[in-house]
Amino acid sequence: MPDVKGFSALHALNRENVNLYVPKTPGCYVLDRSSTGGFEVHYTGRADYDLEERLCSWVGKGYLYFKFLSLPDRKSAYEMECKVYHNLNPVDNKMHPDAPDNTSYTCPHCPQPNSQLYRQLFGL
Ligand SMILES: [Zn+2]
Repeated sequence: MPDVKGFSALHALNRENVNLYVPKTPGCYVLDRSSTGGFEVHYTGRADYDLEERLCSWVGKGYLYFKFLSLPDRKSAYEMECKVYHNLNPVDNKMHPDAPDNTSYTCPHCPQPNSQLYRQLFGL
């Protein structure tokens, strides 16, 4: 079994918390800009190499809270980002996540041209 747990606890997004809690590993994160209590995913992103550095770059840009998930490599980080993107449709994500630089990874959650869905809909 892969040792992938859920996302971390909710933390206020500031440099101290990022330095304290977030590892320098690949991973996925979600950001929340609501101040009304309750957690909402407004944005999801990933780090190919360094979650801590990536989350630090979001400090002071309007988001108040974050959760993160450390993952073993950038492929799993990309796939998790895609999973959150497709399942939660974060309102601030205007575009589908890009694959990591110099890779040909594809989103496992987008319908593929040879998928059962395509065959059903288009008889291909
Ligand atoms: Zn997709």
